[in-house]
Amino acid sequence: MRVGVLALQGDFAAHAAALTRCGADPLEIRRSAQLDRLDGLVLPGGESTTLLNLMGDEPWFEALRRMHARGGCLLGTCAGAILLAREVRGPSQRSLGLLDAVVERNAYGRQVDSFEATLDAPALGGPLHGVFIRAPRFRALGTRVEVLARHDGEPVLVREGRVSAGTFHPELAGDDRLHRWFLEQAEESGVGAWRAAAG
Ligand code: GLN
Repeated sequence: MRVGVLALQGDFAAHAAALTRCGADPLEIRRSAQLDRLDGLVLPGGESTTLLNLMGDEPWFEALRRMHARGGCLLGTCAGAILLAREVRGPSQRSLGLLDAVVERNAYGRQVDSFEATLDAPALGGPLHGVFIRAPRFRALGTRVEVLARHDGEPVLVREGRVSAGTFHPELAGDDRLHRWFLEQAEESGVGAWRAAAG
């Protein structure tokens, strides 16, 4: 199995370290063509507008959609979740539409710009520590979207098939359960996908 972390901008090194602690050997992905050989990709937090600008240089959207269509697994956190959504508000911007969700950027307001909280995450085996940094909020979810974790009753980690997205930073929490879960997902859904695609 091969997994990678989108390494154009943001918190990619901390995600790579978490995946490494879970026993993976993640690749730092800087060129869109590298996606053709991956079973799983983490899209880190950072600044989604900057990320979009940097993605303008290469056919990233096509490559990410292709990776998803042939069975690849994607996990977006914070800015990465914004990128995966069907619709982005606050303000509106381009997104991949691989997750049937409406996401609002910087949605906790200035006073609570950043905070930490204990999340209710039975799907991951119990409470999870969440670090929220200028975090977005899910404003609407499609019927096929499952909620994996909540904060104050509100969804903060969701999944639709092979696409998962969290509004917080799991890589900063000192708890690798989400990364371990993601590797299991990638293993189940993606094994050999790129080999099959490569013929
Ligand atoms: N506020 C950022 C954005 O809108 C996301 C913040 C983050 O990734 N920590 O893209």
